Amino acid sequence: MENVGKKENVVGVKKVKKKSILKNFYPEYTFEKVEDIPYELLNKLGIKLILMDMDNTLIDSKGKFSKELRKWIKNIKAKGIKLYIVSNSISEKTVKAVSKALGVKYFYKASKPSRKGFRKVCDNFPEINKSEILMIGDQLFTDVWGGNRFNIRTILVRRLNKREIFISRIKRPFERLILNHYYKKEENNQKCRV
Ligand SMILES: [Mg+2]
Repeated sequence: MENVGKKENVVGVKKVKKKSILKNFYPEYTFEKVEDIPYELLNKLGIKLILMDMDNTLIDSKGKFSKELRKWIKNIKAKGIKLYIVSNSISEKTVKAVSKALGVKYFYKASKPSRKGFRKVCDNFPEINKSEILMIGDQLFTDVWGGNRFNIRTILVRRLNKREIFISRIKRPFERLILNHYYKKEENNQKCRV
């Protein structure tokens, strides 16, 4: 009897280990675009601060964003939720312009998935707990993994363009593999492809 128990334990440990590696890249929710995320969900989760990726999440390759996005941001701000752009972009000029146009503060050269940038931004809000912070982005290996590493909530959105820089392009097939696994395991009302 004792041996059987031990055997089961070993199998159990293996299972947990395998699952936990992929889970690092799992977003909590997925949506087609930022403006599809309902305030009701943010309210239910108790979100007080939203960190947003910029490239392909807020703006397309031409630096354009939609009217609906601007409306969504206005509404979220009016509800008292704080917003911040957290971008890996090295061009302060671009990030600053988007920040100004959307009326949202920014942090650039964030080096996601490093926790450093997240920490710097969140240090401005000592009254907000990590469970009340949400990261929204289009990439599993920077936005979602970074958010998960920093222990905050994550939402993956579909990228706005198909034209991307080389390094992002080569990561996409791996992202697809992880997402397919995620959709099999997790219950999601809205799915997005990468
Ligand atoms: Mg992006």
